[in-house]
Amino acid sequence: MKSLYTQIVIVCVSLVAVTAISIQTASWWLASEHNKSLLQEQIAGANKSLLHYLQVRQSSLVSSSIVLAADFGFKQAVATRHEPTINTMLMNHGRRIDVELMLLTDKSGQALASNGIQLKPRDYRRLHDKLAGNPLTPTFMALDNHVYRLFAIPVEAPVTIAYLFVGFEVNKVLLNQLKDSIGLNLSFVSAKGDYLVSTLDQHVFELDASLLTIDDADWGFGFGRRWETREIMLDKTEAPSVRLLAHADLSAYNDDFKRLTYIIIGLSSVILLLAFISGSRLARRISNPHSALHRELLFRAHHDALTGMLNRGAALDKIAQEVKRAQREKSIYCLFVCDVDHFKQINDQYGHLAGDAVLEEIATRLAKALRDYDVIGRYGGEEFVVGVKVSEPKSRDIGQRLRKAVNGSPIVGKNFSVDITISIGGQLIYPDDEFDTLNEVIEYADQALYRAKKNGRDQVELSSSAMPTKRRVNR
Ligand code: GH3
Ligand code: MG
Ligand code: MG
Repeated sequence: MKSLYTQIVIVCVSLVAVTAISIQTASWWLASEHNKSLLQEQIAGANKSLLHYLQVRQSSLVSSSIVLAADFGFKQAVATRHEPTINTMLMNHGRRIDVELMLLTDKSGQALASNGIQLKPRDYRRLHDKLAGNPLTPTFMALDNHVYRLFAIPVEAPVTIAYLFVGFEVNKVLLNQLKDSIGLNLSFVSAKGDYLVSTLDQHVFELDASLLTIDDADWGFGFGRRWETREIMLDKTEAPSVRLLAHADLSAYNDDFKRLTYIIIGLSSVILLLAFISGSRLARRISNPHSALHRELLFRAHHDALTGMLNRGAALDKIAQEVKRAQREKSIYCLFVCDVDHFKQINDQYGHLAGDAVLEEIATRLAKALRDYDVIGRYGGEEFVVGVKVSEPKSRDIGQRLRKAVNGSPIVGKNFSVDITISIGGQLIYPDDEFDTLNEVIEYADQALYRAKKNGRDQVELSSSAMPTKRRVNR
């Protein structure tokens, strides 16, 4: 019974635990889905703000730079390669329109002049290769570890004699302004993923790999990550030299759901505790042999619901015990199988309820005809099994007594009155008989019952040959 107690507690607690874990997982999933859509909205918002900012800033740059490129004096200085004039003009113009980068190359990409910014010759070439083919189309580029938004303007006199490159730097100050308006941290990284500029400091960036791990998985945020990073698509160039990443701080996101999580964990714990308490109380009640519930369960497990007598399993167990005891005492034991004659007709004629009532009455009459220490049980359907300790000649008398107890008077119910008979087959078990299970004995009794039925019903047949033969063989 101890193990039953443990089992019930385990079942109750695990059921509740599984429920609690499922609720927890569901709420995590919901939170994750919620956060994901929130993040998606923020990324879309970031994209929009960035585009708006760029458009406003670029349109004034482009128009004023076109004026410079078309300036006669400027063109003349470029045509004659008069560097001091060009440099001064670039510097003044750059200051006026507030840009960090003003460069001039010849039409093949050789450096001609700058507003003071120092770049390597190969950077001039990169600029030229990337932008000269698409004049007035701004793009992001990393030059000397700084990120610029820049575009090219051809200087025409009237054929293109040079290219003017104009751009402003996207620095930390500018990124922070954007961050304030969109609520996400932003980073520019090189195509290879190296830090260029970010709203987060370089050391944070180097410490946390999730700042660079772009996860577009549909199922939600990764476990154990501080940051969820998404890429903001910038220009539609095939191979961008810089990438813009937006980082959402998941701890801030999950804060919204923290209270819900605490409530769920709290409730789950309370329910778990209650399950444990009620599970152990239930288990104690069931396993306590003095409790009414225990007795009730035990009774139901061993008795037939209709007649209240022992059910098949319990009756056979009891008879098996009695047989052993009788054999030890060198007594003879007899097992009877009783079958109601033409019982189906009663059901057919008066209905199942009447049939049930008749079965109950038969059970009562059979039980009354037996002694306290005899065993009777419902074998199944309209069959009963009876076990009695008896001397050999007396066994037939007992069979007859059982038969007469049933057919002595009609069974009367609410709307019926029927004469009932039963047929009985019996098998004697001698002290030296050997058999593996009682089923073998029942088989012999059944054969006798069959004979009783065949001979006209309402009679008792004892099998006396089958078991003894076997007994002799085994001995
Ligand atoms: P026989 O004399 O050959 O034994 O005929 P029989 O009609 O008694 O035997 P049969 O096996 O054909 O029918 C037994 C019937 O008993 C069929 C089944 O519906 C009925 N029965 C079995 N259990 C119950 C029960 O619990 N209640 C009722 N009302 N009928 C039952
Ligand atoms: Mg039958
Ligand atoms: Mg029958």
